[in-house]
Amino acid sequence: MTQKRYDAVIVGSGPNGLAAAITLARDGRSVLVLEGKETPGGGVRSLPLTLPGYRHDVCAAVFPLGMASPFFRGLPFQDYGLHWVHPGVPLAHPLDDGTAVLLERSVVHTARTLGRDGQAYQALMLPWMAHWQALVSELLSSLRPPRRLDLLARFGLRGVLPASLLIRTHFRGERARALMAGLSAHAMLPLEQPGTAAFGILLGLLGHAVGWPVAQGGSQRIITAMLACLEEMGGEILTGRMVTALADLPPARAVLFDLTPHQLVRIQDVDFPGTYRRSLQNYRYGVGVFKMDFALDAPVPWKAAACSRAGTLHLGGTWEEIAQAEQAVWQGHLPRRPFVLLAQPSLFDPQRAPQGRHTLWAYCHTPAGSVADMSDLIEEQIERFAPGFRSRILARHTFNAREMEGYNPNYVGGDINAGVQDLGQHFARPALRWDPYSTPDPRVYLCSSSTPPGGGVHGMCGYHAARSALRRLETDGRGR
Ligand SMILES: Cc1cc2nc3c(=O)[nH]c(=O)nc-3n(C[C@H](O)[C@H](O)[C@H](O)COP(=O)(O)OP(=O)(O)OC[C@H]3O[C@@H](n4cnc5c(N)ncnc54)[C@H](O)[C@@H]3O)c2cc1C
Repeated sequence: MTQKRYDAVIVGSGPNGLAAAITLARDGRSVLVLEGKETPGGGVRSLPLTLPGYRHDVCAAVFPLGMASPFFRGLPFQDYGLHWVHPGVPLAHPLDDGTAVLLERSVVHTARTLGRDGQAYQALMLPWMAHWQALVSELLSSLRPPRRLDLLARFGLRGVLPASLLIRTHFRGERARALMAGLSAHAMLPLEQPGTAAFGILLGLLGHAVGWPVAQGGSQRIITAMLACLEEMGGEILTGRMVTALADLPPARAVLFDLTPHQLVRIQDVDFPGTYRRSLQNYRYGVGVFKMDFALDAPVPWKAAACSRAGTLHLGGTWEEIAQAEQAVWQGHLPRRPFVLLAQPSLFDPQRAPQGRHTLWAYCHTPAGSVADMSDLIEEQIERFAPGFRSRILARHTFNAREMEGYNPNYVGGDINAGVQDLGQHFARPALRWDPYSTPDPRVYLCSSSTPPGGGVHGMCGYHAARSALRRLETDGRGR
């Protein structure tokens, strides 16, 4: 290991680790990133998982949060080769009657597909359209005292509700209820839990405000662009360095861990008092995922033709069915009909597969650590809305929840959000502290999605952690 001295070492090269590194390097600090695996990127890699010539997004594939993130918007990643591809429709939610609810870019067009709930949908979404940027920067903040308390309070009035309550009281028809249930189920919590409505409203709003794009050529391009940007600023990265002790690191004034709390407490020589260590040990992880990738010889034959215009699909039918599936998973059972999140990037991005062929990305929620094979159930859900789908499969690849953790140690038990995202842990992520990124060891910071604002590819956890480290580096510098 090089003995050069750095201002900051970042352990882990997921989007938050790299966002932290870029934020520090941009401030003129010397930075080294150490990644345990041979390839950088954490949850944002693309690989030919099925057949040669097919590029599959191993984890993250769709980026409304990346598109809206103040971190991503603040840097010219397009100059480093990152191009967002926008499907004609961000999201489709097919139903058993052969039609589909469409989340279109326009609120008004979306409302038109919701029948008698069209007005109620507009009343929920339209007021936010003029303020989405201010709202998003509050929701993706570091929990500091809000700048726009008025907006946050207004959002909170509905967002704090269980999605099931919002769905029952705000909408009367099956279409709007199904749409909101699918959006809210991204929380990976039972829809009866307080705060799940916030996920549904935010993701719907982002569909209208910025879209749900994919990255041209595969998600890995996001990491390639971040690395090019980092290297241009003088930052360095070494891969294949799984860090187990602070002693593994070169001398540095700050160390930022893109890890989750249970991983951090296992790092040797980190000096934490018992109370903080216990808080980290008590940190709660959520349910897992079962992930599938397909190589197809033709597009998915959706019953509702409009589904072919959408980048992402929610397969789960009615809101009651989605609520049941999510409740079952939370209670440790396998759902009979899982809620399936699916993306079909090759319809909009020819770089994903050989000409005329296609890739398909899908996952469902499972109990934490489950080794169950959900392939049949996922394929049955796709067949339900696209009869004949199975005949188009050339090859498939799967990860169960335990394999997901093997692929990326941050997905503890297969939890892709690096910790339960309920209201309690929203304010104590990873522990109850004024500055959630700093730790009692003044050199050590946490910068992963186990800190606010939580899961998703937005880089804001890394950005806020780097700002926290910079504050201390500046104070220390002045003290000299
Ligand atoms: C199936 C799936 C689908 C998803 N879909 C989406 C989506 O469509 N859109 C979206 O926004 N998000 C999605 N996500 C979530 C997204 O991938 C994560 O929220 C995001 O990657 C978190 O970033 P991070 O930097 O905090 O951590 P990670 O991306 O998990 O990176 C952590 C890195 O640290 C490394 N590491 C761990 N331990 C050590 C160690 N001891 N030493 C050195 N390195 C170490 C790991 O190898 C990894 O590279 C999905 C995730 C999965 C699994």
